[in-house]
Amino acid sequence: MPHLYLVPTPIGNLEDITLRAIRILKEVDLILAEDTRTSGFLLKHLGITKPLQSHHAFNEHQSLEKLIKTMHEGKKIALVSDAGTPAISDPGFLLVRACLQASLEVECLPGPTAFVPALVKSGLPSDRFTFEGFLPQKKGRKTHLESLINESRTMIFYESPFRLLKTLEQFKEYFGTDRQASVSRELTKMFEETVNGTFDEIITHYNTKTLKGEIVIVVEGKKVTRKSKYEAEEEDQEG
Ligand code: SAM
Repeated sequence: MPHLYLVPTPIGNLEDITLRAIRILKEVDLILAEDTRTSGFLLKHLGITKPLQSHHAFNEHQSLEKLIKTMHEGKKIALVSDAGTPAISDPGFLLVRACLQASLEVECLPGPTAFVPALVKSGLPSDRFTFEGFLPQKKGRKTHLESLINESRTMIFYESPFRLLKTLEQFKEYFGTDRQASVSRELTKMFEETVNGTFDEIITHYNTKTLKGEIVIVVEGKKVTRKSKYEAEEEDQEG
């Protein structure tokens, strides 16, 4: 039986939790939560009473050693974040790496994460994509955007509603005006909305509104002229 479970939780709609996630949360000895208050509400809603311990970006380094010891003693631990899949733009990576280094078994349950429905609803190619998460806010932002100019895969970004318009303006500047993009807001919630179009079209849509809610931006990759299978075969024969 695994020692650590990463358990995805709903990104809005409370029905989006799997039967296995509920069972695991009931079976483990300890639940690590990014915010014990937020997760406390969910656990109460699910009728689960388990010891909850805070595990967030500011304390995860310090608690690793003790958690590894606890798991070596045979205790089972679940990690949840405020919403979605732990370790996806949330704490988790450090603990997973520490477990693997300590030969402890890790299981990640499949479940809600914001970028998958946003990618699918964008209508942009989903066969190859790059998940960029949050862009650096100040230092390194320019270099990061420059590094993406020639990216041909669909790009996915997490963004706050307060920075959405500024970020779309910057995308226009770095990626040009003719790329298609998509903004998904409040996925799985009552006011869920996805707007697809050029950067300008999306900016026009949101310019007059006071923006609230959680946001994923999906951007078309740079167009590359790929040789078709037949062109490549023809070239092979000639060569
Ligand atoms: N672990 C989460 C996941 O698996 O998607 C991501 C956590 S990250 C701290 C929070 C960001 O995810 C938000 O700022 C937003 O960009 C995105 N997000 C989370 N829930 C969302 C929702 N319901 N609709 C749109 N975006 C969402």
